[in-house]
Amino acid sequence: MKSVKALEVAVIGTGFSGLGMAIRLKKDGVEDFAVFEKAADVGGTWRENTYPGCACDVPSHLYSFSFEQNPDWTRAFATQPEIHAYLKDVTRKHDLLPHIRYGHQLTAASFDDELCQWNLSFANGNEVLAKNVVLGIGGLHIPQLPKFDGADDFTGPAFHSAEWNHDIDLTGKKVAVIGTGASAIQIIPAIADKVEKLYSFQRTAPWVMPKPDREYSEREKALFAKVPFVQNLSRDLIYNQHEVRFVAFRYAKPLLKGMELVARHNINKSIKNRVLRRKVTPLFDMGCKRVLISNDYYPALAKPNVDVVTARIDQVTETGIKDSGGKQYDVDVIIYATGFKTVDAIANMNFSGRNGLKIQDAWKAGAESYMGIHTAGFPNAYFLMGPNTGLGHNSMVYMIESQIQYVADALKQARKNQWSLVDVKPEAQRHFVGRIQGAMKSTVWASGCQSWYLDDQGKNWTLWPGFTFAYRAMTRRFDPAVCEVKTSAESPKKTVPIPKRNRLARLTGSLLSAA
Ligand code: NAP
Repeated sequence: MKSVKALEVAVIGTGFSGLGMAIRLKKDGVEDFAVFEKAADVGGTWRENTYPGCACDVPSHLYSFSFEQNPDWTRAFATQPEIHAYLKDVTRKHDLLPHIRYGHQLTAASFDDELCQWNLSFANGNEVLAKNVVLGIGGLHIPQLPKFDGADDFTGPAFHSAEWNHDIDLTGKKVAVIGTGASAIQIIPAIADKVEKLYSFQRTAPWVMPKPDREYSEREKALFAKVPFVQNLSRDLIYNQHEVRFVAFRYAKPLLKGMELVARHNINKSIKNRVLRRKVTPLFDMGCKRVLISNDYYPALAKPNVDVVTARIDQVTETGIKDSGGKQYDVDVIIYATGFKTVDAIANMNFSGRNGLKIQDAWKAGAESYMGIHTAGFPNAYFLMGPNTGLGHNSMVYMIESQIQYVADALKQARKNQWSLVDVKPEAQRHFVGRIQGAMKSTVWASGCQSWYLDDQGKNWTLWPGFTFAYRAMTRRFDPAVCEVKTSAESPKKTVPIPKRNRLARLTGSLLSAA
C-alpha cells in the first residue's frame, strides 16, 4: 500500500528519541506526522532488553524527559520494567497513539530528487512518502554475535542478552555467560543464585565502581510530587556530578587514578581470593571503556558456584565451550552478553540520498555527520543519537533533547520559508568532523584499549568528545547558513552562502575547544 500524499514528517522508532520528537512536533502544532515502530509496543531499548537484572546505570531523575519528570521512581536507578512503563505513560499522556504505526520495520529509505521527498519501504509491504524523516532508531539494537567455531553445533539453548529467552528456566542449570560489559554485570548477579554452575567468560576485566542505588521512601516521593523544585534540584545535582566526570576523561586523566582506587576497593571488599582478585582487576586506564557500576557483581563472582574463565574461547561444542587451553566447560545454556553493532545500525541500512548516494558510500571513511544529526547528501533526514553523540559520562536523554530542539527548529524554519530541501554542506560537515576527531585525540577513549567505541581503524565515531552543555548550546538553533536549501520553485543549486565566520561556526569552534 502506498500513501499518496507525503507526510510532513516520518519519525522512525519509539524509544526516548522517537517519542520525544513526536511530543515536540505536537507541541509545535505539527499534526501531519507518523511514528513508525517495528514492534507492537513503544520503548526502544527498554522494550527490547528484558534480561534479568536489566536496569539503567544513569539515575532515573536524570534519565527521563526534562518536561516529564516522574516523582514516583521507586529507586535511584530504575529497573527496565519501570522505565518501560514510564515510556508507555508518556505515550498515553501526550496522546501519541493515534500517530504510531506499529508493525512497521523500515527496510529502505530513498530520496526522490525531483519531488524532494523520501520513499520509505517497510517490511510489511507498506510504502510511505514523507517530506522529512527523523531517525530515532538508536545505536544499540543489532546484537553482536561472535562467530565461534561450532556455535551452531551446541544442542542447548543459546541467546543474546537483548533477545532473552524467557521460556528457559535457568534454575539448577549450568550456564555460560560470554562477555563482561554493562549487560553481563547485571545478568550475572541476577542469575547466580538460581543456577547450579555459572561460568563467566571474561575477555577483558571491566572497571566497576560502587552503585549509589537506594529505594526512595514514600515521603521522598510525596515531596518530589508536591515540590517539583526539589526534584529539579536533585536532577541538576545528578547532572553536574556526571558532567564533571568529563573533566577527568579529557583534561585531568590523573583524576581517573583516584577513581581506580575506589574501584579496586570495590573489588577487594567483595573478593577475598587473591587469584580471583587479580583476574578481575582491569589492565587498562579507567574510562577508556565504559565505566560500569554495581554493588552485586563482585559478590556474585565470589560465590562458590561461579567461575571466572579468562582463557580465550576456542570453540563452541555440542555440550558447551572449549577454551584455548583445550579445557571443556559443559553447560546447558549459553548467554551471549557480547554487545551490539553500533554505527552499523545506520550504516547497514538500505538508505540512499541524492542521486542515489548510498549511506555505505557516503560513510566509506567513517560515519561523517554534522552535529551527529545531518549527513551531506541525505537532505531532509535527521538522526537522533547519530554518529559521535553517544556519551561515556552522562545521560543520553539530555543529548536526545538537545537534538530534538535542533531538528524541531530546522523543521520550523523549513515550514516558514517553504524550503523543500535542506542538505548540510559538505564543507560544514568536514569542518565539524575535523573538530570532533581533533578533540577526540586527547580523550581517555584514545588511550589504547580496544572498545566498541572505535572502528577497525581506531577512529571513534560513537562518542561526543565534549561537555554535554556545549553540545546543547551548539544545537539550540538550526543555522541555515551551513546548509544548501531550496524552495519548491527554486533550482537545487541555489544555496545560502556560508558567511566567512558565522555564529554557529564560532560556537562550534569555541565550545569544542572549551570542551
Ligand atoms: P558491551 O559493553 O559491548 O560488552 C560486550 C562484552 O562482550 C565485553 O565484555 C566484550 O569483551 C565481550 N565480548 C565481545 N565479543 C567477544 C568474544 N568474541 N569473546 C569473548 N568476549 C567477547 O555490551 P553490553 O554489555 O551489552 O553493553 C553495551 C552497551 O549497552 C553499554 O556500553 C551501554 O551503553 C548499554 N547498556 C546500558 C545499560 C544501562 O544500564 N544504561 C545496561 C546495559 C547496556 P571485550 O571487553 O574484551 O571487548
